[in-house]
Amino acid sequence: MDLGKEKNKILKQYFGYDEFREGQETLIDSILSGRDTLGIMPTGAGKSLCFQVPALILNGITLVISPLISLMKDQVRALNQAGVHAAFLNSSLTTNQYYRALDLARMGQYKIIYVAPERLMTDEFLNFAMEAEISMVAVDEAHCVSQWGQDFRPSYLKILEFIRLFKVRPVICAFTATATQEVREDIVDILMLQSPTVVSTGFDRSNLYFGVLKPKDRYGAVKNYLDLHPDQSGIIYCLTRKVVEEVHENLIRDGVLATRYHAGLSDRERQENQEDFTYDRASVMVATNAFGMGIDKSNVRFVIHYGMPKNVENYYQEAGRAGRDGEPGECILLYNGQDVITNQFFIERDIDNDELDDVNRSVVRERDRERLKKMTFYCCTNECLRDYLLRYFGEYKDHYCGNCSNCLTQFEEVDVTDLAKSLIGCIQSSHQRYGINVIIDTVHGANTAKIRQYRLDGNPHYGELAKTPAHKLRQVMNHLLLNDYISATNDEYTILKLTEKSGLILQEEETVIMKMAKEQEKETKTKQAKKGKKSSAAGLALSEADEALFEKLRSLRTEIAREEKVPPYVVFSDKSLVHMCVLKPGTREEMLTVSGVGEFKYEKYGERFLNCVKNEAVTDESARGAVFETDFADIEESEPLKEEIKEKRGKNKKSEFVLTNEIAEQIHYAEQTTLSDLVGQINDLRDDQVMKRLTNKLILQKLSEEGFLEDRVINGRLFKTVSETGIGFGIQVITRLSEKGNEYEVLYYNEDAQREIVRKLLGEWKEG
Ligand code: ADP
Ligand code: MG
Ligand code: ZN
Repeated sequence: MDLGKEKNKILKQYFGYDEFREGQETLIDSILSGRDTLGIMPTGAGKSLCFQVPALILNGITLVISPLISLMKDQVRALNQAGVHAAFLNSSLTTNQYYRALDLARMGQYKIIYVAPERLMTDEFLNFAMEAEISMVAVDEAHCVSQWGQDFRPSYLKILEFIRLFKVRPVICAFTATATQEVREDIVDILMLQSPTVVSTGFDRSNLYFGVLKPKDRYGAVKNYLDLHPDQSGIIYCLTRKVVEEVHENLIRDGVLATRYHAGLSDRERQENQEDFTYDRASVMVATNAFGMGIDKSNVRFVIHYGMPKNVENYYQEAGRAGRDGEPGECILLYNGQDVITNQFFIERDIDNDELDDVNRSVVRERDRERLKKMTFYCCTNECLRDYLLRYFGEYKDHYCGNCSNCLTQFEEVDVTDLAKSLIGCIQSSHQRYGINVIIDTVHGANTAKIRQYRLDGNPHYGELAKTPAHKLRQVMNHLLLNDYISATNDEYTILKLTEKSGLILQEEETVIMKMAKEQEKETKTKQAKKGKKSSAAGLALSEADEALFEKLRSLRTEIAREEKVPPYVVFSDKSLVHMCVLKPGTREEMLTVSGVGEFKYEKYGERFLNCVKNEAVTDESARGAVFETDFADIEESEPLKEEIKEKRGKNKKSEFVLTNEIAEQIHYAEQTTLSDLVGQINDLRDDQVMKRLTNKLILQKLSEEGFLEDRVINGRLFKTVSETGIGFGIQVITRLSEKGNEYEVLYYNEDAQREIVRKLLGEWKEG
């Protein structure tokens, strides 16, 4: 049997997906080769599949250990829906049901069995497990074994005891989303993983938009958001029960389908409310952080924090419940200075740790105060929010994500050619022997033992950039690395090396312009610009006709979900429905190419969805939207900072770029902006899974055709510049001079011009 082919077949047949996501294949291959395996992937990355696919390939049974009943139920339900025989064994079953399930398990009825850790060492379960052929034990939410983690579960410590009883040790794999170094080491040690394959795909959740708002009227801000995002499923986290009650009451009063969750409610009510939310009977959940780990709902579109949580760990975990299906989601924190005081109060009063002695308690408090400070910085920084979060977890990426409230309002283009030249010059003159810190310290003029020891205080670039803050230098360094102006070795010590492109800077042949956070003192001005801004990004951006189809498919899904007594997203995810809207499958084969449609599900209700699409298709022809050419000659020299176009892999052809009214309404118009910024914003608002990007080229071409721009040739290169009529249209040329005297032109568009462009994209440019 060719295992490689087998796993792709299973992915398609049972789960309906064409491709593995990042990390999945490596993890699956490792398990199939019999090696212990540890997977660290963010929430929503698709960890379950990493043990479910091999479970279907391996001969024997797979045991999955999972901490919460609701998690088990959810996953078993989803597996059964996909045609996989699976069951769970936990305290939610009656004794009779439990024995019956064990009997069936003995008879080989189940390929995958979910079991609660408390059950492992009980006689009945051991009787079964020691006789059966168990090929694999998968530990989900593996951070629960670690006392360092936030969800430590003593019963998880039984896992090792259990595994030791096997005569033939099954392959062990473990998965988690939260793993600081300590937790990671704990998992490997406590579960005694044997030279495991460890795969960590990082913490970034690129489909999530992060935003911080500081509204005077928090409830007003929430209400406004809900008005702009009707029918979307979302969570509103509040700091206290009292606030949950208030917000919930107001929402009900305002006609929102909201429900609530906090520790003050009875078990029964909590469970009912959670189900209402899961089954989309209530669209908004208002909750304290007690509404936690068990939530596996994949189509949560937004998570609003009605107050600042006490640390970044909690924030990222809670916010991460948005967009688990990979579709855009928004994480918005409503900050108020009072939150700091409330949290301080929680920290000082903390009675959870009553087994701690005084010394330890004060250590813990100190740590919590420190964490609170970092959380507060998040709310106040004007650097990229995503970058801030990732750095907190020790991950270093670009400092500009283009999809957070700061990147969209607080950044400006800065010429950093001089800084780049110093840094590269320093690497060169110190013979390419040092790493990032040493080079930065040198140009910054640090007087450390290390610098003196290496004699770098005699380097010609020593202290050259003493006035530039070190964090800025680090950003420039990062930018240079990401754009191949320099490279870094990947050995034990990272050493910076020159590249072919380094010369361009040293010889002053190239200008380096990058986005940087505006200085804090300019804040008042940017605040003003921010005011008129509706919360940006996300939402499923479909054309109007497709939107109508989407609604029909959604009703059909609700109908089927009722029949099957499962939550709607278990039938098909939002993403699958969006794909159907875009692909408009007409046959079984075409339907099977839709992401998330496997054979089993197709047999069950594929036809009904197919018919729904077909009925709609008759009226659809006129609504296909405009076809835009995108391959004009490169005429964008005046836009020095082009965003890299991300090549999406999917084989499914995306439809054309179509500006919808829904997107247009969300655009924020600045007083003045560059075309890249406007286009970037529109692209951030569209659904990148199904639509092509809008390009600067297209707009430049159209503006030229209409006579607002004209061509100019300088040194044999074609540039666009503004014409007489273009000035009236609201385009302005600004000549910038870099500090080194490199002159370059930037075209700025005033608000009228921006609005006119958007209007044309919606109207006359659509046809051409
Ligand atoms: P995690 O446990 O990592 O938080 P899940 O296993 O619950 O995430 O998966 C999240 C979502 O991603 C699920 O809806 C799942 O079906 C989907 N998914 C997983 N793998 C893939 C894939 N290869 N292609 C498309 N969707 C996937
Ligand atoms: Mg999971
Ligand atoms: Zn950002």
